[in-house]
Amino acid sequence: MMSKQSNANRIYARDCAEDEISDLKQKVARLEESERKLREQQAMYIQMLDAIHDMILVKDPESRILYANKSFRDFYAMNLEELQGIVDAPFNRPEYTEQYLIDDAYVFNTGKKLVISEEPVTRHDGAISYFNTIKTPIFNSRGEAEQMVAVCRDVTEKKLAEEERKRTERALDEAERLFREMAESMRDVFFVAEPSFGKYLYVSPAYERTWGRPCKELLDDPNSFVNAILPVDRPLFLHKLDMVKQSLTNDLNHEFRIQRDEQVRWIWCRTFPVIDSSGNVIRICGIAHDITDRKEVEKRVSEFNGMVSHELRTPLTSIRAALGLIEGGQTEPVGDGTMELITIARSECDRLVRLINDLLDIKKIEADKLELKIQRLQPNDILGDVLNTLRGIAQQGSISLVAEATDVYFEGDRDRLIQVLTNLVSNAVKFSPENCSVVVRVASTGHERVRFSVSDSGPGIPEFAREKLFTAFHQVDSSDSRAKGGTGLGLAISKAIVEQHGGDIGFDTTDSGGSTFWFELKQIG
Ligand code: ADP
Repeated sequence: MMSKQSNANRIYARDCAEDEISDLKQKVARLEESERKLREQQAMYIQMLDAIHDMILVKDPESRILYANKSFRDFYAMNLEELQGIVDAPFNRPEYTEQYLIDDAYVFNTGKKLVISEEPVTRHDGAISYFNTIKTPIFNSRGEAEQMVAVCRDVTEKKLAEEERKRTERALDEAERLFREMAESMRDVFFVAEPSFGKYLYVSPAYERTWGRPCKELLDDPNSFVNAILPVDRPLFLHKLDMVKQSLTNDLNHEFRIQRDEQVRWIWCRTFPVIDSSGNVIRICGIAHDITDRKEVEKRVSEFNGMVSHELRTPLTSIRAALGLIEGGQTEPVGDGTMELITIARSECDRLVRLINDLLDIKKIEADKLELKIQRLQPNDILGDVLNTLRGIAQQGSISLVAEATDVYFEGDRDRLIQVLTNLVSNAVKFSPENCSVVVRVASTGHERVRFSVSDSGPGIPEFAREKLFTAFHQVDSSDSRAKGGTGLGLAISKAIVEQHGGDIGFDTTDSGGSTFWFELKQIG
């Protein structure tokens, strides 16, 4: 029989056991709760790691992969199970993997962080990308490096851009080297200037020989280029240069004289703008060389031509006069057949006289001996004579001459301007088909310039002939000299006359036909 005491002990022991069980149950519940929270937290961290664009990799001391985030898995196209426990993907280049193992060993052995500014990694499709990788050891409570985390940032684009920049720089250096070698071995002067000509950026050593001045002088003082040009040639050079600066023309040839030491030298210079993709002039380049010897030869030939022309003109004028008398019936009568021959001879004589006059004009122009008698003029001072001279030829071709002029004033040499306009109108008449009009207009352009224009419905100027049209002896079709009675000198003379007036001359034409030849002079009040 149990005593009262032992009974009470038993009850107490049972109560204690129940308490312990409920205590244990609570502990288990708490443990389960914190484990659940831990799992939730872990899942959250993993989600966070997967959301990061950089590749993240956790490895053990044997360099085996413990964890790889989504970026890494996508890059290798492998899932976590495939990655866990391996050192690297089999498709990565062995030399790359070897370097990773060396780097990992360094981190585990030294316990130090390692920054690799750029390491190559092979993507699942074989492409190589470059990563900036930071490998950091993770220590356990005993201070041992138990794991390592690698954070890899893709720097491929940056690296490629950098490589491209270096390649471009190298190519530019090479181009510049080639350019300098070429420019420096050239006998021609080559220069590069700012668009305003406020500064020369480069001038080749040939400048020193040609200009007889040091290159440094030009680089220090941009005006020394123009200052060397003879004052009389300067305005035209500056005018042409302005056209290049404003991109009104693509490139321009200039001929001018410079003072080199005690000598005057002739220079040929071609300037052209360098234009960027938006159409802005960013540089002006030029090539120049000394053409004094050529000019000397030209001068001698020209003097010879001049002499021959003079010698020819006198007897030719007599022959022309004699033929004119016979044709006009002022001598003994001749038969019809003979008269026909006389007319042909007279007309050919006229053509020769015109040619010789033109040649003599060209000589005068070349020798700068074309003197202008400048006076104040208005359109009618010019138009009347021009139309009267040409009305006969126009009528022969059934062409009507129409003149339209406004009240404007300009300065010029009346005879020479008549010569220019006569040439333009006579060309227009010569090249117009029958029953058409040739329209001569004189009016202000509204920019203090008076424009003379002559429009026809002729064949127009074909593209291939446009550039050289104002060059002496240039004809679009060589048969023009016979068929149309021209010399190929009219436009060259007209250009020289207009330019000596400080004006411009040009033409507008289309391939479908019709041309308008024009010249502009300064308008005065
Ligand atoms: P030419 O004395 O031969 O007329 P120019 O110098 O006046 O010499 O003209 C040169 C050439 O330009 C002509 O031979 C012709 O081929 C061409 N030309 C000039 N004006 C015209 C025009 N209005 N229409 C067509 N061609 C023209």
